[in-house]
Amino acid sequence: MPSRDDPASLELTRDEMQAMARLAADKVIAHLASLDRQPTRGQLPDQAYLDALREPPPEDAADFAATLDALVDEWVPRSFNTASPGYLAFIPGGGLFPAAVAAFVADATNRYTGLYNAAPALVELEANALDWLRAWMGMPAETRGLLQSGGSLATFAAVIAARERMLGAALREGVAYHSDQAHHCITKALRLAGIFPDRVRVVASDERRRMRLDRLAEAIDADRAAGLRPFLVITTAGTTNTGAVDPLAGAADLCRERGLWHHVDGAYGGFFRLVPELGATLAGMERADSLVLDPHKGLFLPYGVGAVLVRDGEALRAAHAVKAGYLPPVPGEAYSPSDYGPELSREFRGLRLWLPLKFYGAARFRAALREKWQLARFAYEALAAAPDIALDGPPELSLFAFHVRAGSLEADNRATKSLCRRVTAKGRAMITGALVGERFLARICVLSFRTRHQHVADCVADVLAAARELR
Ligand SMILES: *Cc1c(COP(=O)(O)O)cnc(C)c1O
Repeated sequence: MPSRDDPASLELTRDEMQAMARLAADKVIAHLASLDRQPTRGQLPDQAYLDALREPPPEDAADFAATLDALVDEWVPRSFNTASPGYLAFIPGGGLFPAAVAAFVADATNRYTGLYNAAPALVELEANALDWLRAWMGMPAETRGLLQSGGSLATFAAVIAARERMLGAALREGVAYHSDQAHHCITKALRLAGIFPDRVRVVASDERRRMRLDRLAEAIDADRAAGLRPFLVITTAGTTNTGAVDPLAGAADLCRERGLWHHVDGAYGGFFRLVPELGATLAGMERADSLVLDPHKGLFLPYGVGAVLVRDGEALRAAHAVKAGYLPPVPGEAYSPSDYGPELSREFRGLRLWLPLKFYGAARFRAALREKWQLARFAYEALAAAPDIALDGPPELSLFAFHVRAGSLEADNRATKSLCRRVTAKGRAMITGALVGERFLARICVLSFRTRHQHVADCVADVLAAARELR
């Protein structure tokens, strides 16, 4: 409780801090222990409930324990249970506990990692963790990068670096290319970077939902012939819709031949490079000019950690670094985060990556990722025998899509949406779908560190049961 006799002081005593931290830790740990018994998709509140949450700014102190109870017992459960082991929807991650502890330590100690000079040792730890990602991805030592809040902002930083390096002032002539399966954050990043929609080409994908390189080459040549400046190709290493991996090596060849920047969106799939068996699937990713990874997906961290790696690190720095009279110059070759992206003040984001990697060691992440890949294959094979289910293709990584066969496209789509709803309503697994072209596909994405064999087996059983009910 903030002391009432000295209202201007916001300081807590040691005992008060200890009590507060203990209460929060106990509450959160009890919540985590109950995850397996909670539905994978909480009952979302109605508008009246939401309206009742709005209140004027509180003038006086509220009771902490009661506030915490309301938060964890009332409001947290009224959401998609993205921390649940049965959460196989969208792209899971789970939220590793050591990363939450890292966030607590970083926020409570509150050191400044926007600028190298203000916390050189901490920035060095963050740079080191980024360099681990670089090494795992097989990129060269000159690569530089940045931890951002997620894949979207990481993509934005990469697009800005590509634009500055490839176009300079010739912004209006620049043309960018991505497939019809690219994540919508690509569209957003291009728009924010000043690339107008009439300079973005959406390249068709093939029957396995991978970018068609013949179409890409034709589009580039046509734009060049029209006097434009093709500058950027964006491929995806694991699409959000179906988990497809674009022909990364072929795209890298084409970009080299024609002098374009090759960006790879590995937000979902990039970390599967840690799994030896999946090296061939992701071959060519290491040749990217820029690569986006989402540690809050593939390394199971809580939301709020995305990473960009740029092969020519100087291109990323040159696109973002600005001097200011009141800031001390960064010494020599030192890595200063605010020189590599749009942020200045920032939390010690790197600790959320560094601490879990130190705590578990890389081998355990490799083993966990390998297991998620195998679980997706298990689910795929289990559904392959079902008469009414049409599989869209085997999982290249840990995600695959399918639809229910019901006679016509419209009937299929209706039945597939209904299947997703029925499975999720049972509460053991949550799955979602995606509209791909005209077809609605259900998806199973295994990526939460909490998802083990039994959870996937339960999901498969619920999908098969729902398909039978729909027959
Ligand atoms: C999640 C995702 C993104 C966007 O990343 P955020 O972290 O949500 O901003 C981009 N591309 C792919 C393939 C993704 O799965």
